[in-house]
Amino acid sequence: MRYLDTAATTPVRREVLEAMWPFLTGEFGNPSSRHGLGDVASRALERARADVAAALGARPAEIVLTSGGTEADNLAVKGLALANPRGRHLVTTRIEHPAVLEACDHLVRLHGFRRDLLDVDGDGVVDLTQAERLIGAETTLVSVMLANNEVGTVQPVAEVAALARARGALVHTDAVQAVGSVVVDPTQLGVDALSLSGHKVGAPKGSGALWVRRGVPLEPLIHGGGQERGLRSGTENVAAAVGLAAAITSAVGSTPGGPRPRGPVEALAAARDAFVHDVLSAAPGAFLTGHPRRRLPGHASFCFPGTSGEAVLLGLEQDHGIACSSGSACAAGSDEPSEVLLALGIDPEVARTAVRFTAASPGDFEGAAGAVVTAVRAVRSLAG
Ligand code: PLP
Repeated sequence: MRYLDTAATTPVRREVLEAMWPFLTGEFGNPSSRHGLGDVASRALERARADVAAALGARPAEIVLTSGGTEADNLAVKGLALANPRGRHLVTTRIEHPAVLEACDHLVRLHGFRRDLLDVDGDGVVDLTQAERLIGAETTLVSVMLANNEVGTVQPVAEVAALARARGALVHTDAVQAVGSVVVDPTQLGVDALSLSGHKVGAPKGSGALWVRRGVPLEPLIHGGGQERGLRSGTENVAAAVGLAAAITSAVGSTPGGPRPRGPVEALAAARDAFVHDVLSAAPGAFLTGHPRRRLPGHASFCFPGTSGEAVLLGLEQDHGIACSSGSACAAGSDEPSEVLLALGIDPEVARTAVRFTAASPGDFEGAAGAVVTAVRAVRSLAG
């Protein structure tokens, strides 16, 4: 099988599993226990926290370990807004992950917040003029993702953050898709909080973290034994934390200029560009969704008018052994066209023809275009 769905998830890397193994077996202690096994677990947890922090150019005390990106987004949005309510006004975008959008909705429904959604242009880039108009002295929190999962567009987060900071609002960015692909440096971005997920970069599902700038108050969502400095109670998942640290350290290197992706980012983007070119030149009417250049290097997403994205996806798996996605995995199974594609101004019927291909290494794209074009033709000939 050729796996072209790394934006949905990735396999656990061998060195990650090896790093985790002792904490699933012999070194199984609870970090809160006062005996030797507990000490070993506690030291491993703090080393993992320090490694995650180092990959972001941050301090260990700024990392809250979570059960993944969804929890990190919820903790950022609800935790920051409830601890610093100011004018109870939230600003986010139409193309955020549901973890951010639904967390905002929760604050609107139950905590008296107002919420404004920023539009995006046809390439999926957030509207900075509208941001300038909507972010004001009342604004509590601005949340803009660093890179979109469905269309791959990388957002001008530093520009939005500068606007927000000038008005005294806090800024969060969801960097779940960006880690290992673009520079993820909270200081350069000028944000106050940043979400990470392990399973997009070779750590297990259910691992992740929220970075929160030192001194920024945060209200916990999970109460109990006071772990994670009281910000996230519950016996820590030591093995997941160790896995997250190992995976992020493989994906991101700290350099004197700040954190940089370690992977073959340029070669990946070149292989992706060749794949896009080959698909577009042989599939009439097809078009790329998202920004043609300001996008994740391993991300190619298309609409194939005259097909159904689901049918193309099935054909690719059954006839060509290619695993890809017909939109975001989170929206899979839903018949509704993707809200993200609608926000880009794509017609609802055309949005149902979307297919996304995502890869972590350049070789994965090689020779895939022919199969895609054949699958699109097959679906069109059945439909027509
Ligand atoms: N944010 C973005 C942009 C994502 O793509 C995802 C997962 O696909 C998440 C958040 C949720 O992360 P997790 O699956 O770790 O809960």
